[in-house]
Amino acid sequence: MADSTLSTRSIEQALRSEIGLDGQDVIAHVDVNSIGPISGGAEALLAAILSAAGTVVMPAFTYQTQVIPQVGPPNNAMDYGGADERNARAEIFRPDLAVHPDMGALAELLRSDHDTIRSTHPILSFCAQGANAKKVLASQTRENPLGPVAWLDAHDGIVLMMGLDHRHNVSLHLAEQRAGREGFTRWALTLDDIEELHHIPGHRDGFNAIWGDLMQFGAVTQIGMARCEVIQIKPMLAFAEQQIRQYPNFLLCDKPACHYCGARRV
Ligand SMILES: [Zn+2]
Repeated sequence: MADSTLSTRSIEQALRSEIGLDGQDVIAHVDVNSIGPISGGAEALLAAILSAAGTVVMPAFTYQTQVIPQVGPPNNAMDYGGADERNARAEIFRPDLAVHPDMGALAELLRSDHDTIRSTHPILSFCAQGANAKKVLASQTRENPLGPVAWLDAHDGIVLMMGLDHRHNVSLHLAEQRAGREGFTRWALTLDDIEELHHIPGHRDGFNAIWGDLMQFGAVTQIGMARCEVIQIKPMLAFAEQQIRQYPNFLLCDKPACHYCGARRV
């Protein structure tokens, strides 16, 4: 039986030759464990992505900084008050705070690399490495948390998904925002404050409704055991925005108990 163990070199070659990743600026969503044995492990996988792409951006979100106030705006998918115990467990945002486990081990590996930079949004920071890392991250402000996605949209960036589906495709939140779907207000602990943060996007469990439609904007291959996909951000966002304008509940999930999607359903 042939050795099926992958390496940095074989993954990089597959990314380049099979799905055309070659120096572009990418936002990457990766499940390390979906791929199978890799010589050198997660570090080798990250090295392959960094080598094939121009700039690699990943969400370094830190949901663990959030606190729940006693009162707040209505229609905000939040039950106010009574959260003293949870609030006591909240972590203070700082530049070296680990990314939330939901964002995946590879995002944390990129975040902790000494060549990586990170933006400073207390809930929705991004980390990046590569030629345009500073420009991508500088586009984020407190009032524009999805700035890095907009930057990638304006500069022909792409989404790279490895072993994950569109419930991880955070860029689609920008299409929701552009189509007029309101974000939420959340609160996060920082060193000297509790910051009130606006335009926080909602829930991604309904995002797979767009999966088939997006395949026209990219390429798919299998690397190891994982389905890997690249999608051009510009046509993806234009298509998703148009669909939401036409079908205002598009991309919301159908879970009856979901406060986020329930609050935005029309
Ligand atoms: Zn939902």
